[in-house]
Amino acid sequence: MSLLKVDSLSIAFGGVKAVDNISFEVQEGEVFTIVGPNGAGKSTIFNLISRLYEPLSGRITFDENDITKLPAHDIAKLGIARTFQNIELFDHSSVLQNLLIGRHSQRNTSWIQDLLFLPKVRRSEREHRLQVEKIIDFLELAPYRDKLIAGLPYGIRKVVEIARALAANPKLILLDEPASGLSVEETSEMAWWIEDMQKDLGLTILMVEHDMSLVNRVSDRVLAVAEGKFLAQGTAAEVQANPQVIEAYLGQ
Ligand code: ADP
Ligand code: MG
Repeated sequence: MSLLKVDSLSIAFGGVKAVDNISFEVQEGEVFTIVGPNGAGKSTIFNLISRLYEPLSGRITFDENDITKLPAHDIAKLGIARTFQNIELFDHSSVLQNLLIGRHSQRNTSWIQDLLFLPKVRRSEREHRLQVEKIIDFLELAPYRDKLIAGLPYGIRKVVEIARALAANPKLILLDEPASGLSVEETSEMAWWIEDMQKDLGLTILMVEHDMSLVNRVSDRVLAVAEGKFLAQGTAAEVQANPQVIEAYLGQ
């Protein structure tokens, strides 16, 4: 079943189409990867799906809901979480605090309801904490749990960024260049986390990535784009053998 359907999506900045009539479908449970040269429009596709940007035209369907016009927080509530190419964490808060903030997008109560139903809220706060602790265990972040983000090595911050997204309890997670800036060993570890999220958590993963070792290892299907336009789609091997894809990379 297709969990996410992107239909003829476009956006322009200053008259230049950064995303130009892009369509693809992500099946439930798969790892779907978007590749393409710098400036191809990959992060912009993520910004359109998570509704940081409003599309010029096109439609986005998630889990049978038309989410094209929904505000970002409603999209998060429906079950789409994301990471950012440039890590977006609260540097002067701990790993645990960042995850609890991430968890908040799942909360349905207002502060007035919180006051009216205090015992129930306490119970739900406890549930939030339990869930967050599970994510910390799952991604082996326990040694960093109470450490401030600012003091953590870059590779660990990349994992915390994923943990923050998981804290929102998504069905679909968008990973924007999870391996960028990582060493070969850290990239291989990142592949383990992606495989574990897919297999153990049953998550659907939409990823943008440059590191072809990671792309080849974890992707079920790959879409290649350049200058905002569709180039090719297929397995990682098929896409890399595509003459138009090779040309787009050579022309970089
Ligand atoms: P990629 O992630 O594939 O490297 P991006 O999606 O970040 O590429 O950018 C695609 C194009 O859109 C680039 O030319 C970029 O400069 C432009 N772009 C992205 N966001 C904005 C914005 N907010 N304002 C103006 N131009 C933008
Ligand atoms: Mg990008």
